Amino acid sequence: MVYLDNNATTPLDPRVCEKMTEFLKTHFGNPSSLYPIGREVKEIITEARESIAHALGAKRTDIVFTGSGTESDNFAVRGVMNALPEKDEFITSAIEHPAIIETGNYLKTKGKKVTFVPVSPDGIIDIDYLKDAITPRTAIVSIMHANNEIGTIQPIEEIVRIAKDRGVIVHTDAVQTFGKTDVHVDKLGVDLLSISAHKVYGPKGVGALYIRKGTPISPLICGGHQESLLRAGTENTAGIVGFGEAVRVLCERGEKDHRRIANLAESLKKGIEDKIPNIKFNGHGTKRIKGTLNYSFLGLEAEAILLSLGTKDIYVSTGSACSEESEDVSHVLSAIGLKPEIARSSVRMSLGRFNTKEDIDRVLAELPEIVEKLREISGLDPDDL
Ligand code: PLP
Repeated sequence: MVYLDNNATTPLDPRVCEKMTEFLKTHFGNPSSLYPIGREVKEIITEARESIAHALGAKRTDIVFTGSGTESDNFAVRGVMNALPEKDEFITSAIEHPAIIETGNYLKTKGKKVTFVPVSPDGIIDIDYLKDAITPRTAIVSIMHANNEIGTIQPIEEIVRIAKDRGVIVHTDAVQTFGKTDVHVDKLGVDLLSISAHKVYGPKGVGALYIRKGTPISPLICGGHQESLLRAGTENTAGIVGFGEAVRVLCERGEKDHRRIANLAESLKKGIEDKIPNIKFNGHGTKRIKGTLNYSFLGLEAEAILLSLGTKDIYVSTGSACSEESEDVSHVLSAIGLKPEIARSSVRMSLGRFNTKEDIDRVLAELPEIVEKLREISGLDPDDL
């Protein structure tokens, strides 16, 4: 199998699997219990929290575990809006993950003003539009660090400067950058930042939200004393242990992984561009996470390419995992100005830690032929593309 859908999810790292399995076999205690088997689990959770905080350049006390990246995003935006009832405006971008877009749509139904800032054809947010959108009633700006479909990295530091000058809280969804590039809360300057374990070779169903000390935020779930009273409920202990270990491994591998993935992606990019005519690269030339490649194969339906590659055990994606079943054209590709028929011809390939040079060679051996055959079947005249 050649798995090129690492932005949708990543395989569990064997070290993470081992750590979780061992934990599940040996620790059933409730971390809120005061006797030793509970305290021990609490300490293990603290270690995981420490590992994640360290990787983000944060303090342990600033990390709240959640059930997913989606939950972290919802918590950040709704939590701040709820904590600042006198401010009723939320600003985000047109290319966010549905976790933020739909939170914005929900807030609209509650009478809040929500602005979706447009982006350039290469996916960079329109900074002047953002500046104009901020008013004294703006509670929070949420702009993703990198986009999951096209990989474009946003100028978060600049956005933070603009927002801070006007006293506005900033959240970034770093689900797609954490583990792929440097994500440091103080360098970025954000107040809130979302991450998710299953994008970094950890388990599904666990995420985290970084909350800078002093940020006004209302609890997400009320109940017990877990997660500093912000997200009650007995912790997903094994998931948290796995997340901590995944992040420990990330830190250990660091730049090595980034370089290797960037090199593999570069040779895939070059191979595709050399071998396949009439394609369009979607995203920014340089400001992007290097392992994400999104191409429109003009004249074709991406689904046909995806299914043909699937028969060869090569797995890619037509958009974000969350929108895969929807009939609509990707909102991201629409926002960068692609016509619907071009958006529908777009395929995302996202590389990860376990990809090899052989994987790239396999794709480059199969994909050009598949595209050529599909174009032949559809009787396309290359001059019409
Ligand atoms: N934000 C981004 C940018 C994502 O790519 C994803 C997942 O695809 C999420 C949020 C949601 O994360 P989770 O799957 O943990 O809910």
